[in-house]
Amino acid sequence: MNSYVERVISELKEKNANEPEFIQAAEEVLSSISPIVDAHPEYEKAALLEKMVEPERTIEFRVPWVDDKGQTHVNRGYRVQFNGAIGPYKGGLRFAPSVNLSIMKFLGFEQTFKDSLTTLPMGGAKGGSDFDPNGKSDEEVKRFCQSFMLELYRHIGPSIDVPAGDLGVGGREIGYLFGMYRRICGNYENGVLTGKGRSYGGSRIRPEATGYGAVYYLQAVLKHENDSIEGKTVAVSGFGNVAWGVCKKLAEVGAKAVTLSGPDGYIYDPDGIATEEKINYMLVMRASGRNKVKDYADKFGVEFFPGQKPWGQKVDIIMPCATQNDVTLADAEKIAANGIKYYIEVANMPTTADALKFLMEKEGVIVAPSKAVNAGGVLVSGLEMSQNSERLSWSADEVNEKLQTIMTGIHDGSAKAAEEYGLGYDLVAGANLVAFQKVADAMMEQGI
Ligand code: GLU
Repeated sequence: MNSYVERVISELKEKNANEPEFIQAAEEVLSSISPIVDAHPEYEKAALLEKMVEPERTIEFRVPWVDDKGQTHVNRGYRVQFNGAIGPYKGGLRFAPSVNLSIMKFLGFEQTFKDSLTTLPMGGAKGGSDFDPNGKSDEEVKRFCQSFMLELYRHIGPSIDVPAGDLGVGGREIGYLFGMYRRICGNYENGVLTGKGRSYGGSRIRPEATGYGAVYYLQAVLKHENDSIEGKTVAVSGFGNVAWGVCKKLAEVGAKAVTLSGPDGYIYDPDGIATEEKINYMLVMRASGRNKVKDYADKFGVEFFPGQKPWGQKVDIIMPCATQNDVTLADAEKIAANGIKYYIEVANMPTTADALKFLMEKEGVIVAPSKAVNAGGVLVSGLEMSQNSERLSWSADEVNEKLQTIMTGIHDGSAKAAEEYGLGYDLVAGANLVAFQKVADAMMEQGI
């Protein structure tokens, strides 16, 4: 490894010792980009890598809100504006009890490189709160969103920073957030948020985009391997928006998701989560706020495995769509023992560092990295920004076609970069190399 890269990794670990998720994400990128740094000795003098692992700005704020009984609660809000070199900061908001500074920084860092891969002009950011929307009434969620925006509004704008949804933040929350932004600012800048409803400037295909994009990426991998998607079985984790889009697109192209998971365990449906009724039921389960995947087993009479993950099932393809650190080394060993060839990360950093290393070194396993596979969501957000700034609306076919073309391009570009650096078909290194180069060029040229 390049000695400058090595030094920055060790300083990173020292400086951010209590931020394990951030260290994991940054180390993964840094350890892939040595060949570029070797060719650019000027990076060290400019401290380019040190700048890249330090957010441009981190905002933390108090979010007080009143529950239905009149009790006031206080949560912590965040916005980490990680890197704005290639466009306005862009990235989702996450509402979940697990949110902390390390998670926000890891997601903002990943977002910088993901957004670079989309080829659209977007910088990287992430935000959110440790507020748990599960089990809260609609009015409580509304009051929380309004209070959150009362602080966030001063840090965002269509050419400054454009938040969107993520875990726990969907169309309903974006609506409440935008309503409050509009009241505070007194103008109709709907390009300030993406993932909006269709009635006020949302793009077609945005709700499906992350899942659809992941399947388009998967199809490009299969094409590379002279394989086809027809008849393939897929183990999916999670049952939120991303898993929903994946199940829907898999069914459309003749494959089937056979598992879903939640905090309570996982379900196995050998017929596939492939009918309209089953796919729509995922939305009902999510909207119920119960956060239990067992509801699916009860409704459709399939097997439920309490407290377990679906990674022991013998399938053709693995697609973790839940959240970070969903697949551990023990899970990875089961996946390899089952002879599964395609390991397609979908959620942000779903694989622990040791599990990822194991799978990447395992002969016959192809690993596709989340920052490329799940880029479809933010990509269509970028298209939503374009439509808003031009005050027009593209058809579903137009958006879908752009999504498919760019996702295929992300796969092909990563494969080509890895090949050029003599790394073979390494999609993880390839994505990091392509994403890093663009951000590095912009930062060097701007002298920042
Ligand atoms: N939260 C999604 C992501 O991680 C979407 C972000 C966006 O659309 O800005 O990419």
